[in-house]
Amino acid sequence: MNFKKKSVYLDYAATTPIDERVLKSMCPFFQTKFGNPSSIHQFGQDAEVALENARSSIAINLNCSESEIIFTSGGSESNNLALKGLLIARREFPLKNHILITPVEHPAITMTAKHLAHYYGAEVEFLRVDSCGLVDPDEVKNRIRSNTLLVSVIFGNNEIGTLNPISEIGKVCREKEVIFHTDAVQAAAHLRINVEELLVDMMSVGAHKFYGPKGVGFLYVRRGTNIVPTQNGGNQEYGFRAGTENVPNIVGLAVSFDIAQHEYKIRTENMLKLRDRLISNILEKIPKSYLTGHPRLRLPNHTSFIFENIDGNQLVIRLDLDGYACSSGSACKTGNPEPSEVLTALGNTPALALGSMRATLGMNTNSDDIERFLEKLPSIIEDLRE
Ligand SMILES: *Cc1c(COP(=O)(O)O)cnc(C)c1O
Repeated sequence: MNFKKKSVYLDYAATTPIDERVLKSMCPFFQTKFGNPSSIHQFGQDAEVALENARSSIAINLNCSESEIIFTSGGSESNNLALKGLLIARREFPLKNHILITPVEHPAITMTAKHLAHYYGAEVEFLRVDSCGLVDPDEVKNRIRSNTLLVSVIFGNNEIGTLNPISEIGKVCREKEVIFHTDAVQAAAHLRINVEELLVDMMSVGAHKFYGPKGVGFLYVRRGTNIVPTQNGGNQEYGFRAGTENVPNIVGLAVSFDIAQHEYKIRTENMLKLRDRLISNILEKIPKSYLTGHPRLRLPNHTSFIFENIDGNQLVIRLDLDGYACSSGSACKTGNPEPSEVLTALGNTPALALGSMRATLGMNTNSDDIERFLEKLPSIIEDLRE
């Protein structure tokens, strides 16, 4: 017999369950419509039609053309392809090897940039951010040099929730004729995404953050932005990403993105109230607690905190035992916790940064769950501090 009660999931920034409608749309492509889009026969054609319908649906939502979308295995691959594909294409003739990123990027940007610096001669610099992780467009303007190839700034931050002024930064980059990429993996789940308004040249999106399947996403690449493929082979994805397309996943990606882009207002309305209730109550009830990230310019489902004299991993484990699935920014490496680099970059001491906790909401999170969570949390923190 299992007496463990059902846990409340508060980790939607890590991943989301698949929407029933999305799952349904994918099913035929595992069985009856299993063809390879590259095949000439009817089975192949059916798959090809589904693939191109998915591309077209995404293009309409983004306000771009179909040929500007490259399907990938998700946010990480899209970030890799954007940075590597561009640097390898452009670093010479004339020398353009300078890349500006922020200290609060997802590791798929940070580690890719480091890789490019190490193996491909890229010169990587970090833009200054304020204590909320916000990038000032003027900072971008001042830091762009004659050999700057790319600026990459995260849109909605996965760890601290902060939303960056992407269209303002895009404007600066366009004036300076520098390519602008944004990691919109979190933002795409909650905001209307229009690439003409955002003024981005490249943008990464992944489906599993908005109730789509895991292992699929896309990179938007504005026409005229020359990149080279980083995975070679067949001619799939206009030659930019070899490999038989994951048709069921791509269909699910398009449907989940379409739903996210049409239903974001209703979803947000509910989540905003719960988010602000969580933030204000925790800061009020728990001594020595701090919000990380921006208090207003943040993802509508996102709360993140630092608690003094707390080990964030211990807190997450304890919350899990009590039936709440949250996360901490610090990596748990077998008994030796490492503070989050994002939180230390914002000026927190390593000791303080170890006390981080993130609770992120989903479209079905209800106020009962939140109220019960708020009743539990202060006593758990008190316990752990003793
Ligand atoms: C989840 C996430 C990624 C990685 O996406 P995957 O699809 O899991 O590879 C990249 N950037 C941000 C901001 C994310 O939240």
